Amino acid sequence: MSSQSPPMSADELRSPFRYCPACRAEYPGQNPREFHCQACGFRYFHNVAAAGGALIVHDGHLLLTRRAHAPAAGTLDVPGGFVDPGETLEAAVARELEEELGLRIEPQALRYLFTLPNLYPYADVTYATSDTFFRVDLATRPELVARDDVSEALWLRFGEITPSSIGLASARMAVERFLGEQQVE
Ligand SMILES: [Zn+2]
Repeated sequence: MSSQSPPMSADELRSPFRYCPACRAEYPGQNPREFHCQACGFRYFHNVAAAGGALIVHDGHLLLTRRAHAPAAGTLDVPGGFVDPGETLEAAVARELEEELGLRIEPQALRYLFTLPNLYPYADVTYATSDTFFRVDLATRPELVARDDVSEALWLRFGEITPSSIGLASARMAVERFLGEQQVE
């Protein structure tokens, strides 16, 4: 289950560096957020990364995706992803929907819901993220093409969603919270 349930405790974060990237001195420090080399003074802040997800709704159904890659490959997920430098959160979510599903929406169609902290383990580095969730209401069910890091797109009736099938903790909590606020049909 560990691959499906990332640790939620920030205490489990570790420094991603064992050596200083600037002077190659060994790095004994364990501060996961601030790398500070005592030998040469190099500093690096392993800051929280911003990510966004969209809870896309049509006619009592929520659109979920299946993850094609690690972490939590094969589990269900909320479409979305990381914000690129210089990009707004809304533009990042709109871009990810296009990349993952071929779905074009205007960033203004995203309605802010809430944020959740998460931990995202990838290639031996665990990133602390701040995940912002938006709601998108669609009047019609669009044609979707699962691609990029998505293997499948599923429209699930609110009442038939099993949150435990959602691998990443913040996406699972977001769907649970969203469903709790809906009239389950
Ligand atoms: Zn150094």
